[in-house]
Amino acid sequence: MRIVWILALAVIVSAGCARQMEPVQIGAPAVEKRKVMDGTKVVKSEAEWRKELGPEKYHVLREKGTERPFTGELDHAFDPGSYRCAGCGEELFTSEAKYDSGCGWPAFFDPADAEAIDEETDTTYGMVRTEVLCSNCGGHLGHLFPDGPRPTGTRYCINSAALTFSSSEA
Ligand SMILES: [Zn+2]
Repeated sequence: MRIVWILALAVIVSAGCARQMEPVQIGAPAVEKRKVMDGTKVVKSEAEWRKELGPEKYHVLREKGTERPFTGELDHAFDPGSYRCAGCGEELFTSEAKYDSGCGWPAFFDPADAEAIDEETDTTYGMVRTEVLCSNCGGHLGHLFPDGPRPTGTRYCINSAALTFSSSEA
């Protein structure tokens, strides 16, 4: 019995020595790995979006829904200011490019910044349309059509629910 104890002690001591012999790592990665995020993009889970946006905005922005025409509160708003993404707050359009298209949704002939908008081909409902998305959060905004006024000839037909308006008037 005694010899077993001595052997056990020897193993423990040698293990301890072995540990001490290991090189000391300075600045070893003690922190857990973090998810690497794209610096500018907003990434949230569908559950987070659903909670933050509420049913109407969630349906439009995250499920590519379309509000009923002539129902959006910004359809007939023409005060000076900027129109931001209701999902992430990115400026998408300004009042300077907004016009009354009569189509039933807010219409713009130009985005505030071409970088703010992403375009994708949408072939749903038996049509080929160009879908317009917020480049910052990927939210669905509406569609774009080649029947706008000058100078661009483009109509950005955008759901009011996808936008928030901030007035530039004091
Ligand atoms: Zn956005």
